Amino acid sequence: PAPEDDKPARAWIDQRGGKFVSFINGKFVTPGDKPTWFPAENPATGEKLGQVYQSTQKDVDAAVKAARAAQENWAALPGFERAKYLYAITRLMQKHARLFAVLETLDNGKPIRESRDIDVPAATAHFHHHAGWAQIMDDEFDGYEPYGVAGQIIPWNFPLLMLAWKVAPALATGNTVVLKPAEQTNLTAQLFAEICVEAGLPKGVFNLVTGDGKVGAMIVAHDGIDKLAFTGSTDIGRLIRKESAGSGKALTLELGGKSPYIVFDDADIDSAVEGLVDAIWFNQGEVCCAGSRLLVQESIYDSFVEKLKRRMQNLRVGNPMDKCVDLGAVVDKTQLDRITKLVDKAVKDGAEIYQIKDACPTKGCFYPPTILTNVEPSDEIAQIEVFGPVLSVISFRNQQDAVAIANNTRFGLAATVWTENINMALEMAPAIKAGVVWINSSNRFYAGCGFGGYRESGYGREGGKEGLYAYLKPSYLSTLSEASPR
Ligand code: NAD
Repeated sequence: PAPEDDKPARAWIDQRGGKFVSFINGKFVTPGDKPTWFPAENPATGEKLGQVYQSTQKDVDAAVKAARAAQENWAALPGFERAKYLYAITRLMQKHARLFAVLETLDNGKPIRESRDIDVPAATAHFHHHAGWAQIMDDEFDGYEPYGVAGQIIPWNFPLLMLAWKVAPALATGNTVVLKPAEQTNLTAQLFAEICVEAGLPKGVFNLVTGDGKVGAMIVAHDGIDKLAFTGSTDIGRLIRKESAGSGKALTLELGGKSPYIVFDDADIDSAVEGLVDAIWFNQGEVCCAGSRLLVQESIYDSFVEKLKRRMQNLRVGNPMDKCVDLGAVVDKTQLDRITKLVDKAVKDGAEIYQIKDACPTKGCFYPPTILTNVEPSDEIAQIEVFGPVLSVISFRNQQDAVAIANNTRFGLAATVWTENINMALEMAPAIKAGVVWINSSNRFYAGCGFGGYRESGYGREGGKEGLYAYLKPSYLSTLSEASPR
């Protein structure tokens, strides 16, 4: 099969001189004296795609200032006027869908099939959905007002989709934005900024600052930010919570997970195997809600694991630009080393490892799909988020046992239950402490449905009506006191 044509994406990169910079007040910035740059790399090949500008405190100040200056007018627009801009962004994302997909794959290493069929359409749908909310905002959210300026920090695993989850609800509700993409993945956010210009979005409504965690910390500390929204690791989430405590900034956190994938002996086994392939090997397992713990009922343990191993043999790992590839590269060498270390340690601790022989290309940041058996629920590998294509398998006896093991984690982002017994499934769902419980399916996302965590997976929801409340505060008290006679 022919690899996806990457010429238009390469031409787009060349047009910009391979330079990816902050976008402030409607313009890409020209870095000042002695700027610091770091490379943007294709993890599948090690090829340098270009260089990313490390923003300074001055840039962050300018971005916040621009967002502040634009906010009042943006919020004063009737919702249906803001909706026009969101619809325009949606249409332009559709128009440039192929370019977005190829850039995402070059930058992140994920299979083109996934960026083309999942990341980009889901991100576009998110804007479309929120355009709809903006249209009815004034009626639906009477008595609420935007926080003001939202500082948003996102990870590298779904660069464009996470941008959409953050930016669409913020703009729909009348907030303006200062967004920082992850240092590993900047390309699609740059294209998104261009689209904002093309859509005629008023300058200062969407601002982008490029750079590493130090730039993120500047956003967190900035006095001109009213609302912080973070998606990333639990450790950084905890730090941000501490740093922003007492600052008066509103905060939502979307953090890590260690989601259980529970298979009962009465399940439709073939479908459960297919669902699991998606749950743990989609996006190389670099998914916050990845079904990384398989809990399988004792009576079918051997047969299920056998079937899964056979199915795993058919997965293709390789050049993510190849349209037939199932797993591409992990995001960078750091992530590859982290996965390798965690798996090696698990094996040392007694886990049995199963991988496809010679699955990966010899060059690039590839890790093969991996199954670990002989794992106890309390083992490190069953507790820590690997964020890679690594599945730990644990057996359980009965329903109570399954619930206890499922909840035996610091996290609570997602869970899956496979059974033909719908009564049992409906008992399981509320018993599992997770933001979403999928029944006989996995990785189902819909812009109209709130997504978020319990416990150390964070708090706040993205998507649905709940997701809008994350960007709104009640204003009815002041309205009431103005209106009420003394
Ligand atoms: P990370 O926490 O290292 O980085 C996330 C972002 O935070 C990056 O933009 C980074 O530059 C920035 N950052 C780093 N240090 C910072 C600091 N001190 N202050 C402010 N910002 C800082 O996470 P990652 O490795 O990029 O992403 C992987 C993690 O994201 C995983 O743990 C995964 O579970 C989580 N994730 C969660 C969801 C969700 O919806 N719950 C979705 C995707 C990813």
